[in-house]
Parts: sequence; structure tokens; C-alpha cells
Amino acid sequence: MIVAEAYKGKTIGVFGLARSGLSIAASLEAGGANVLAWDDNSANRDHDNLNVTDLYNVDFDTLDGIAIAPGVPLTHPEPHKLVEKANAANVPIFSDMEIFANCRAVLPKHKLVAITGTNGKSTTTALLSHVLKAAGGNAEEGGNIGVPVLSLPPLPDSGTYVFEVSSFQIDLMHGFNADIAILLNITPDHLDRHGSMAGYVASKTKLFEMQAEGQVAIIGVDDIYGQEIAKNLSQRVIPISAEKEVEGGVYVLAGKLYDAMSGPAEMMGSLARCRALRGDHNGQNAAAVYAAGRLLGLTPDEILDGFESFAGLRHRLQVVAEKNGVLFVDDSKASNTGAAQKALLAYDHIHWIAGGRLKEDDLSALTSGLPRVKHAYLVGEAADDLAKFIGDKIPFSKTGTIKNAVAEAAVKAESGDVVMLAPACASFDQYPDFEARGRDFAAAVAAATGVTTIDDKGGAA
Ligand code: ADP
Repeated sequence: MIVAEAYKGKTIGVFGLARSGLSIAASLEAGGANVLAWDDNSANRDHDNLNVTDLYNVDFDTLDGIAIAPGVPLTHPEPHKLVEKANAANVPIFSDMEIFANCRAVLPKHKLVAITGTNGKSTTTALLSHVLKAAGGNAEEGGNIGVPVLSLPPLPDSGTYVFEVSSFQIDLMHGFNADIAILLNITPDHLDRHGSMAGYVASKTKLFEMQAEGQVAIIGVDDIYGQEIAKNLSQRVIPISAEKEVEGGVYVLAGKLYDAMSGPAEMMGSLARCRALRGDHNGQNAAAVYAAGRLLGLTPDEILDGFESFAGLRHRLQVVAEKNGVLFVDDSKASNTGAAQKALLAYDHIHWIAGGRLKEDDLSALTSGLPRVKHAYLVGEAADDLAKFIGDKIPFSKTGTIKNAVAEAAVKAESGDVVMLAPACASFDQYPDFEARGRDFAAAVAAATGVTTIDDKGGAA
């Protein structure tokens, strides 16, 4: 655990007692703070070791701060009641990452890398952490992926903390500055929470505005939002791209990685042999990790070796079975059109299973992927909207469920084809989360092919 010594003697409300909230409470208490813990759900309030106190009845003038779970709305669709109460009393609202930032001074010498973007955060976080460890370094990954940051073990001298940071978490930061901050990409997402695209972009931008002199921003410049952010920052910016050459940056073209960080571009190696880094979108992730790895002192060979030994993450373009030359690929995590488009562009001859609960009105991001698709199988609430969007561009069937889709696709698919779940939608109409959706796909594949998941343990969950 990281002990929050900087909060000694302070009175802090902790609202939301799920994993990160409990980790915050433990860290603050260990550091000598007076913690008042609360959760709206009574089932989450049963903690003998915590001072569980109804925060609605606490005079907020007695609080030095309130830590809240990132899912609690700050502004949209409307502020949570306790957020309003904190604002009215001028009580700072933050989360675990801000606490971590305020405790860095007492930790052994280390580097902090923060990774954000609409898509690819988890993959890039896991990849950087893997590359650092494979090269013999000490690294811990946490945040939005895996372990809450205050539950991480403190690293020995010269280690690297790699945090996956969502826009919700950035909204709860004030003085968090990362030695290296990475923005992969920005496409429309979470607009209900941020109110507008401008609000979402502003949230991402803040991570870089908080950086101090001498710290470095690595920015994906394949979308206009990243380009604008890169232009307006005063710290060192290393642009990355999976589409074009970028001066002073790192880019991947046709699977080859080029380093132009300190002079003319040099081709450093190929990603073709890295089984978990298929597709242009993974070129973007790899370019970001390469740039960060070099800044952290790794050699190009150490980084490329790490790419090759990376096993990938579950439910992200995860090959779950192969039967008679047909690959079955689970990209359940592709819950928006941007991610699904990337998944389609990573393969050819695709039997595409899509649908669920729509997150966007505009489906046009999917257009460029359609020529890769032989047949679409539409499921869940979004089936009609997707059918309307597809029109007569490609053949499709409305199968209702993933199980039916897999059964039909397994019969239709020929050797060389790929049956892929890349829903472009949220899972909540039919599943509790994208993991359950991915597991259901794998179960349906096993039922249809007789092949049990061959890569189920292939990556971290
Ligand atoms: P996040 O943590 O940001 O949600 P993940 O690494 O879990 O990102 O990937 C989410 C989805 O986006 C997956 O479907 C994955 O295949 C796809 N993806 C991964 N990296 C990128 C990228 N750089 N650009 C677009 N899509 C990506």
C-alpha cells in the first residue's frame, strides 16, 4: 500500500466504498488521517474497521477534502448531492490519483507515467509495464486497469508507476503531474458525463496542462483533437502516429516502427512478429510505448523484444479459437464505433458480430471497415439502427443474440475467414459488462466448434 502521509491529521470524507474507495480509506488511515466513509448503497457500508458516517449529515466545514469514486457525476447530467455540498463549502474533491500525487515526495525516487485516450489505454498501460519489466526494470501498473493506485506496493528506488487514467479521473485531479503523460487518441465517448465533445476534450487536455517544466507529453496526432492539443502545449511534445510520418516523433507505417525523436527517422523494427499487436491501432499504442520506453532509458532492442513477448489483454482482439482455418476473435471491449472500426481494419474476410446498446448516433466511423466484412450478424437493442446504417452495403442477418450469431457464422465461415465480436456498442442491454459479453462469445464459440478457448489465459483480465 502507498501510505498517504501527506494527509496526516486531516479530516477526509471518502464517498463510494467499492475497490478504489476502500483503498483510499485504508491509505489515508494508515497515514494518520481522520476518515469519514460513506456509500449510498447500504450493502457497501458494512465495514467494522472504518468510521462509517452519513456524509449527508456532516458539516462540510469540518472536512479538509472529500475523495470520491470516479463514477460519481461532478457536473453532468447533474452534480451528485455530495458534490454540490462540497462545492458549496469549498471543500476540495479528488480521487486516489490526486492523493498519490501529493504523496510522491516521500516515495523512493521514481517516474510516473499517465496514459489516457479514448481507446487503447489498458493495452498501452499493460504493454509499457510489460516492456519495462521484461527489460529488468521495476514497474507497477494501476488505476483504471487492475489495482487502485494506492493499493500498489511502493516501488524500490528508480521504479516506474504506470497509471491508466480515464477522463473521469482527470476531472478529480488538481496538482497531479506525470513525468510522462500520454494521449493516444480522442474520439466521441462518455459525452453524457462530460456534457459535450468540448468538455471531453478539455478533460483530456487538463492532464497535460498540469504537467510541470521538464516533463514530457506524448501525443497521438492522428485525430484533430490530439493535433490541437500538441500544438498548444509548452512542454516537450513527442508526436506519435500510426498513419503518417511525424517530425520529432515516433510512427508506425505498414507495421514498421520509425524513430525520429532525435533526428532523421530511423526504421527500428517490425511489429509483424508481435502477435498481440495486430492492426494499425496497436501501432499507435506501440509508438507511444516506444517513445516512453526510450525516455525511461530503455534501448530500442529492449522495447522491441518486450513487444514480441507481450501476450495481450483479454477481450481485446483476443483469438479465442481456430477451427478449420477460421479464426474466432473476441474484441468485446470494442464498445464504441472507433474501437470497432480499428478491429475490422485489423483483419479481412470478417463475419462481424455487432450490436448491444448504442452509444453514438453517428455510426459513420464504421464505414471504412465495411469492405472487410463478408457478413454482419446484428444483436441486441442496436440491431435495427445498425441494419439501417449498413443498408445494402454488405449482407447481414439480425440474429438477436451472440449465441445465434456465432452458430450462424460458424456454418457460413470458410477457411481464411475470421468470426469477430466487435460490437461497437455497450453491453448493458444483455450483459452486466463487456467481460461477461466476451465470455459468452467464447462459450458460444466453444459450443459451435467444439474448440475450447485456446488463449483464455493469454493475457491479464
Ligand atoms: P481502453 O482501456 O482505453 O478502453 P483498451 O486497450 O481496453 O482501451 O482497448 C479498447 C478497445 O479499443 C479494444 O476494442 C481495442 O481493440 C481497441 N483499441 C486498442 N487500442 C486502440 C487504439 N490505439 N485506437 C483505437 N482503438 C484501440
